[in-house]
Amino acid sequence: MKIRSYIPEKIHPGSYPLSELLKCPQCGGPMVQGNSNPMYKYYQCSKNKNSGSSVCLSNLVKKEYVEEYVLQDFLNQLKKKVSPKAIYSVTQSILGYELNPLESEASNQEKQIEKLKNEMFKAMDDSANPDLNLDVEMMNSSIASKQEAIYKKKSKLANINKQIELKQNDNLMDIIEYSIKNFEDFYQTLSDEERKMFFHSVIKEVHVTKGKGTKDRRINDVIYHFDLEDLNCLAEVE
Ligand SMILES: [Zn+2]
Repeated sequence: MKIRSYIPEKIHPGSYPLSELLKCPQCGGPMVQGNSNPMYKYYQCSKNKNSGSSVCLSNLVKKEYVEEYVLQDFLNQLKKKVSPKAIYSVTQSILGYELNPLESEASNQEKQIEKLKNEMFKAMDDSANPDLNLDVEMMNSSIASKQEAIYKKKSKLANINKQIELKQNDNLMDIIEYSIKNFEDFYQTLSDEERKMFFHSVIKEVHVTKGKGTKDRRINDVIYHFDLEDLNCLAEVE
């Protein structure tokens, strides 16, 4: 894989994962955590924050909006540029992990059914043999209970086989969506500090429009450190 390893120069503590990646629409300088207001969270031009409005305006951008936008942009890039094969190879190992216990449970059920059948056939032979002089009623009830047990196990086996079939027949897009969805779930479990490391390792810069006011300010470009197409090398290695 030709992805250059990137070590962020300095990661500042705080809960603003896009700090410094976000560029001020006016001066082009880095944007950082805005002066805190518990109700509204914004990124703010660092020059404005440090030196005041004579140098640059605050150019506030809503924290929630930019972070959600950048995450979705990354996921879209993943869908668009990374080959199904690369994602598929990762997904298969996840599904395989779930399939194995199901398959061994199915084979376990099959063995038990086979054993019960043999016992039942033996009981039928025995009860038909006049030399053994067995109690007919007792033999019939024993045969009936074995039949009942076989029926229950067959129904359980059918259920397991259905699950296996579903997992094997998932079409490719379902699998890809599953992987991408999982990535999003995974992202939600990250701390702000981990999100910051993640964003800084894949993203170089995020540009926002100047806009008339905070509400109008929108992201117009997300620049990555590497082309996500490079991830396709993951599939070629196998
Ligand atoms: Zn600025």
